[in-house]
Amino acid sequence: MKEIKRCYGCGAIIQSENEKHIGYVPKDATTKDHILCRRCFQLKNYHKLQTTSLTKDDFLNLLDHIGEKDCLVVYMIDLFDFEGSRIQGLLRHIGYNDVLVLANKRDLLPKSVKERKLEHWVRRRLKEEGMKPVDVIVTSGKKNMNMDKIYDAMMTYRKQRDIYVVGATNVGKSTFINALLKHYAQVEEQNLITVSEFPGTTLDFIEIPLDEQTYLYDTPGIVNESQMTHFVDPKILKKIIPQSELRPIGFQLQEKQTIYFDGLGRIDYISGGQSSFITYFSRQLKIHRTKTVNADALYDRHKTFQFEIDGMQSIHDMKTYDFTLKSGKCDIVISGLGFITISSKGGKIKVHVPPQISVTIREAII
Ligand code: GDP
Repeated sequence: MKEIKRCYGCGAIIQSENEKHIGYVPKDATTKDHILCRRCFQLKNYHKLQTTSLTKDDFLNLLDHIGEKDCLVVYMIDLFDFEGSRIQGLLRHIGYNDVLVLANKRDLLPKSVKERKLEHWVRRRLKEEGMKPVDVIVTSGKKNMNMDKIYDAMMTYRKQRDIYVVGATNVGKSTFINALLKHYAQVEEQNLITVSEFPGTTLDFIEIPLDEQTYLYDTPGIVNESQMTHFVDPKILKKIIPQSELRPIGFQLQEKQTIYFDGLGRIDYISGGQSSFITYFSRQLKIHRTKTVNADALYDRHKTFQFEIDGMQSIHDMKTYDFTLKSGKCDIVISGLGFITISSKGGKIKVHVPPQISVTIREAII
């Protein structure tokens, strides 16, 4: 039987399979007797926080735990992957606590889009789910955007209570908390963070003192299995996932035309009059228009990135999604990759993507 080892910092079970999961250490470090998981190691030596993730059941326990507290919940979502970064059923679990929403990664959307427009868009989307946050602040942890505003809002809305920061993995929670700590840490850095365990659970929160009695807790995220990090090589991921402002490319499409977004998928315009399609993807992706009849044959020629995706040998292994467009403007979202804004008088489209990627239609964000 495999021996179970625990991190002497936080008590998490040591594992080397999933970097984002609690208790991670690189494989060659698992043989030691006295092991500090990577997160505790980084905290101890570099005062750097790295957020971890939990499985679904543990995550729901965590939310229930927060629901039992009287606290302020800071809920981070990713503006670029809004659909993929939402926590399903958050409201049901966290009870009546106040929620402050941080809409992160604003830097990826075009600078020309007004902050207020993004804020209203987020509010409308959350309202559809029944959530009425105390405030929505648009931010970019990477660019330190609106940090003063966030800090002030947190201090106002917490009303002397603890703060719990929640979010799915990859929304940018650690980047944000590290930026917050750098800006506002008044305590000696070494004393700033302690890893805390809640007895009888596997929920390890990082606690950061706010004053003598109250804390800000960083909580593990939930893994979204459909995120590309799980099935694309990290080197390629850096190219296909936008690192800077998305590049808009506009097309006037006629029926029976197709737009390829590199080897990652395509959108066929089946019917409807001439319509405008604006693609928003990483600058490194090649975006190409062709006639739909020629599209299958052109797939291999037009892909820049050669990578293996489970279950996908050719364009025929892609999953397809059909949408009927209403008259007006909408976005077709290719989860984690980008989106296409379509303005039309109505029509039909078919989207082809690798089997693991999901596609949704939404109110246009821009
Ligand atoms: P966590 O899993 O929620 O803790 O997320 P991380 O902080 O580890 O960030 C996940 C990924 O998103 C990393 O590649 C970060 O560099 C990136 N990221 C974090 N914040 C931002 C941001 O404000 N803008 C952009 N463009 N990327 C970000």
